[in-house]
This record gives sequence, C-alpha cells and structure tokens, in this order.
Amino acid sequence: MTYQEKLKDPQWIKKRETLLSERGEICQSCGETKELTIHHGYYRPKGDPWDYEEGSLWVLCWPCHERLQVSLTEIHQIVGHINPKSYGKFKEVLGKSIDGFEVGITKNEIDDSIHEYQFGITVGELAEILKEEKDAERAIYSAYSVSIISSSELGPTIAYELEEAVCQRFPGIGTGVYEAGGERDGIVSVEGPDAEIASMIEAWCHKRSGQY
Ligand SMILES: [Zn+2]
Ligand SMILES: [Zn+2]
Repeated sequence: MTYQEKLKDPQWIKKRETLLSERGEICQSCGETKELTIHHGYYRPKGDPWDYEEGSLWVLCWPCHERLQVSLTEIHQIVGHINPKSYGKFKEVLGKSIDGFEVGITKNEIDDSIHEYQFGITVGELAEILKEEKDAERAIYSAYSVSIISSSELGPTIAYELEEAVCQRFPGIGTGVYEAGGERDGIVSVEGPDAEIASMIEAWCHKRSGQY
C-alpha cells in the first residue's frame, strides 16, 4: 500500500475524525474552524499515518499547516547542525516542558522505535508528502454520501445550510437534499463502505443540525 492509499484507509479516517472531534474542531495554532487537517509532528517514512503517538498529531488549518510545515523542516535542518556531542543536553532541554510551549512528548516517552526511521527529510520530500495528504483529504470522503431531509413546513433553508457545512467539513462527500413533509429539518442518513465512519459523519451532522 502506498502512503497515498494509506491516507484513505478507514484506520486513518477514524483516527482523523476522533482527533478532530476530541480537539474541538479548531486549528490548534490559530483557532480557525474551516479546512482542518492533521499535522504529523514527525514522519516515519515507512510507517502508517495512524501509527503515531497522539501527542505528535496536531489539528491545523491548511494555511497554518503549509506555513508551519516549512518551519518544522527548518527546525529539522537546525537540529542537523547541532554538534552531536550536545545531543544529550539538547534532548534534556527538549524533553522538559518549555514555558509557553506545548510539547507533546516528555523525555521518558521517546521510544526506541524512532531509531528505525531516518530523521531529516528534505523540504522537497516533505512538500511531496504534504501534497499527497491534501489530495487524499479531498478524496477521503468521496465514497460517502449524505441525504438531508427538508420538511415542507419549514422550508429548505436549514437543510441547504447543513448541506453547505457538510461539504466544507467533509471535502468530496456526496450530498442530496430531499423534501419530506412532517419530518424535522436536517435529519440525515449517511451511506458509505465503512459503517463506523458513516456513523461518525452522521453524528457530526446531527450535532451540527442541532445548532440551527
Ligand atoms: Zn490555523
Ligand atoms: Zn504537517
């Protein structure tokens, strides 16, 4: 399986949905609520996208992601210029909770598995991975479709508002608004290959339609 294919794997979609929901669906850098993605604080070139500690995964909006990914690459480069004799001291400093910094790992949690992977991906390689992630994200929900019921009494406004929100939140998803008298506006049903993911999408829709 290529990395691109792994990004569409239900395991990754579930991890992604869970993280987004747990972190309140806002960018952990700027607070934006649209165009959210999951940033990997580091990569294991042969690893699966979901096989990371949660402390190294961050919810970011795409503009922050693209900007901060470059900063991260620069940090990797700076690390490459540290005299190896200072690694011990450097790890100690990084492992401490630095004032004003949110650090997802403590020194004791740095596990041996990291040694199997190469450190220091080039800017070009990272840009390539980032592009793959963005493409995969656009395709990720395309196997799913949401049916939104619009009651004849209340008119279609809420149903169409919900449809727009769904399309923004789940890029590539199929949607349809159907008129049905008597039912409450915005009642949805979701279809797709993975029942668990479909119910995650449905839960999001219900939560969202409750806000109207
Ligand atoms: Zn942001
Ligand atoms: Zn990233």
